[in-house]
Amino acid sequence: MHIQVIRHATLKVTYGGRTFLVDPMLSAAEELPAVQNTPNQRANPLVDLPLSVEEVLAGVDALVVTHTHPDHLDEAAVNKLPKHLPLFCQPPDHEKLIQHGFEQVIVVEDEKEWQGIRFHRTSGQHGTGEIGEKMGPVSGFVLQGADEPTFYLAGDTIWCEEVEQAIQAHHPDVITVFAGAAQFLVGDPITMTKEDIASVAHAAVDSQIIVAHMETWNHCLLGRRELREYLEEKKLSARIRVPEDGEGIHYR
Ligand SMILES: [Zn+2]
Repeated sequence: MHIQVIRHATLKVTYGGRTFLVDPMLSAAEELPAVQNTPNQRANPLVDLPLSVEEVLAGVDALVVTHTHPDHLDEAAVNKLPKHLPLFCQPPDHEKLIQHGFEQVIVVEDEKEWQGIRFHRTSGQHGTGEIGEKMGPVSGFVLQGADEPTFYLAGDTIWCEEVEQAIQAHHPDVITVFAGAAQFLVGDPITMTKEDIASVAHAAVDSQIIVAHMETWNHCLLGRRELREYLEEKKLSARIRVPEDGEGIHYR
């Protein structure tokens, strides 16, 4: 399998001979408003795509949307994505995606098999307490395919019981977590902090981990440099990668 971090949560994943575009957010820099009630009030996204939209869409066989917050599926993506592509999603987003014009929305309630690839839906917590309730529901997916490493895309979740259960149930070889420690002026982070990532690593001692969802959306306060320094200090940098936008990693 090959994972290319495009920008933020947008990933291009080649798996089982198919190419998936995960959480497409295709706006140019500063086309969208800042998330309110956060310490950093710059317009979103903070940076441009590292590739042209045509390059991002090239060769894509299917789409995966973990949830429909605008940093995971924006209006630009809704306008530019080919609507005939199969789109895998969580049950609560079905109607909305149909309304957006997608013609082949595949809801993963629990499990789904598609072209030799097995999808399992996992859940998570997009924050704690009232904020977590308000942000949810969110999902992740585990992909399994012949001759491929088991891949767990955790989605927008903090470290929580659901993530621990997904690791125990599926023994993923490769895990992608969405970090940035996104935060409002009040309440706890709603995506993974550096400590959360260390908890994932300790629960999944044999897994390779890729961290995305940083330095693009104004309420994400954890940057790559701080995270890399922390991972170095905790002796976790050998199996936790923090790619730059556009960077791809091959796993076998
Ligand atoms: Zn997000």
